Amino acid sequence: MNKIIIVGAGFAGLQTAKKLANSSFDLTIIDKNNYHLFQPLLYQVATAGLSPADIALPIRNIFRSKKNCKVILDELIGIKPQLNQIITKNNTYFYDFLVIATGSEPSYFGFDQWKNFSPSLKNIKDATSIRAKILKVFERAERVENKNGLDKLMKFVLIGGGPTGVEMAGAIAELSKKVLTKEFTTIDTRTAKIILLEAGPNILSTASHSLSIYAKKTLEKLGVEVKCNTAVQNISEGLVKTNAETIEAETIIWCAGVKASPVKSWINVKTDEMGRVLVNEDLSISDYSNIFIIGDASYVKNKNGKPLPGLAPVAKQEGNFVAEVIKKNIHNAKPPKKFYYKNRGYLATIGRSDAIVDFGWFTLKGRIGWVFWSIIHIYFLIGFRNRLMVFINWLWSYLTFSKGARLITDGK
Ligand SMILES: Cc1cc2nc3c(=O)[nH]c(=O)nc-3n(C[C@H](O)[C@H](O)[C@H](O)COP(=O)(O)OP(=O)(O)OC[C@H]3O[C@@H](n4cnc5c(N)ncnc54)[C@H](O)[C@@H]3O)c2cc1C
Repeated sequence: MNKIIIVGAGFAGLQTAKKLANSSFDLTIIDKNNYHLFQPLLYQVATAGLSPADIALPIRNIFRSKKNCKVILDELIGIKPQLNQIITKNNTYFYDFLVIATGSEPSYFGFDQWKNFSPSLKNIKDATSIRAKILKVFERAERVENKNGLDKLMKFVLIGGGPTGVEMAGAIAELSKKVLTKEFTTIDTRTAKIILLEAGPNILSTASHSLSIYAKKTLEKLGVEVKCNTAVQNISEGLVKTNAETIEAETIIWCAGVKASPVKSWINVKTDEMGRVLVNEDLSISDYSNIFIIGDASYVKNKNGKPLPGLAPVAKQEGNFVAEVIKKNIHNAKPPKKFYYKNRGYLATIGRSDAIVDFGWFTLKGRIGWVFWSIIHIYFLIGFRNRLMVFINWLWSYLTFSKGARLITDGK
């Protein structure tokens, strides 16, 4: 029986696995986490809107009824392509076909020391520790007797005006200005200052110019200060130095960049400056037609010659494509030669009831955009329980202005 190994059960790997799960192949899925994570809603965990279990599902549970699927909790550390073998922290495995879908990790553009002062959002641990950091600010402010340091304490700086920065800024604004107001007696939580820094001229630069302007205005209405053309030059404890000023803030969150997972350290491949592997048109790598790299870890161009963005629909479509290539190869049929991406639009939410949706040929914004955004996110969540929980949570917080997951759980 043909052995297929998929490393990484994020959007790309999970999609490949689902397409191959009912076949007669011997399928092994390896992930360093035991769950699949719906990253687009991670910011809601970080801002106390949802609980981690609402947006993650054990991989083992997803494949529980698939007899040809084995799920292994382990971490890839090397590949020996001449031997068709991979090395993990705990074992070695042989394959006939290998799919690497290990995604990306935060990038501080070479200034790795910044991560000590400005955490980023990539996994559940990041989200719960950012949540604790944000909630503790208000608790500390409530205890403070000398109000002099309050300005710095209640200032939140988000670096990077992409979807994560915009969504986090909107959610923190909503938390401080609407949700917490009645629960604190000493401080006025509405005085919290939320600043979004963006190096380029516009936030949400992938969306159309008019939607980007709309997003900026909507954030400003929520009380967020949006500073475009503002490049960060240094970050230290409680300080952000930009090309324009130095900002003192207790909470600084990095939403600015990602790089591919370190595939180059596992196998000799060519990558771009973000570490994304330059793959063939069928997403295999040069010299090894049985190894595929997909999702955020790979560099694939669209019809206009531009690299495809690191988005869930890109990863999922690549997963579908590679499953087809592998199936056809095994059945000695003609595999598809070239991957084409079908644009599935660009979505971002702003606060509790506003969003932008950009499909190029059609756009939505405001409440109708938010309803569309919500339906799409619930639809694409994995697992009925998660869909139901998220729906109930959103409905509850929409009607009551409350956020149920306001737990400080880091024990510090
Ligand atoms: C905060 C945030 C918000 C986002 N919002 C959106 C959005 O609104 N819309 C959108 O389309 N996209 C969004 N994205 C991007 C989207 O989540 C990614 O493009 C997508 O997850 C990429 O899929 P992937 O399968 O390549 O990687 P991932 O989904 O990251 O999955 C990688 C998997 O590989 C595993 N792994 C990594 N290294 C190893 C190893 N060495 N060994 C074993 N397993 C390993 C990981 O545990 C993980 O399960 C967001 C991303 C983040 C971080």
